[in-house]
Amino acid sequence: MSDVASNLAGVHERIHAACARAGRDPRDVTLIAVTKNFGPDRVREVFDAGQLDVGENRLQEAESKIPLLPSSMRWHYIGQLQRNKVRKVLPLFSMIHSIDSLRLAEYTNQVAKELGMFPKVFLQINHAEEESKAGFSLAELHAGWDTLMALDRLEIVGLMTVPPAVNDAEESRPWFAALRDLRDDLSRSMPAPLPFLSMGMSGDYEVAIEEGATHVRVGSAIFGSR
Ligand SMILES: *Cc1c(COP(=O)(O)O)cnc(C)c1O
Repeated sequence: MSDVASNLAGVHERIHAACARAGRDPRDVTLIAVTKNFGPDRVREVFDAGQLDVGENRLQEAESKIPLLPSSMRWHYIGQLQRNKVRKVLPLFSMIHSIDSLRLAEYTNQVAKELGMFPKVFLQINHAEEESKAGFSLAELHAGWDTLMALDRLEIVGLMTVPPAVNDAEESRPWFAALRDLRDDLSRSMPAPLPFLSMGMSGDYEVAIEEGATHVRVGSAIFGSR
């Protein structure tokens, strides 16, 4: 077994264990293998090990890999999305995890209409209001909520967050719990509840799952350091 295949198997085991601790069904957790900075041959290894969901944070890098890999792979856009990239990102990616402002949401909605698409998107939340990070603050989210709900082309499937960097995964737990609570609050004002939470990376995905993550974005624990 390649390193990638055995690392992937280890991550799956940990996901199952975290689900068991939390009384959750592992089928409700999607592992996204984050392939940024790794070439198509490494992506192929993870595909050969049975992994279909992969994450990229740059359009240019993804554009060069996607045509070289099986079309059954599902690409998730997880990086900051500039408006001038939206038109190209929409047809290539099955989900966008990083709608980080009202302006971007409105623009993506408009482009989706032009392209005849109904993209699945997550709203990225910057709960800690870190200057260095993208995402809606709570105030921005609440102020923009009615406008977001009126965007008829975006299928808003959930919330995403990248909490402040920590040394101990336990320190991320309150941020994950807060995102889940926010999702639950927002769901009450919607026709159908928001199903998904995209949270947890190599250092803290098990804690994220215990707090309700449905999508974990794991790079270095599968591919090694970048
Ligand atoms: C790079 C990246 C990840 C994966 O990080 P690892 O620590 O390598 O698991 C997850 N989410 C986002 C948004 C990223 O940019």
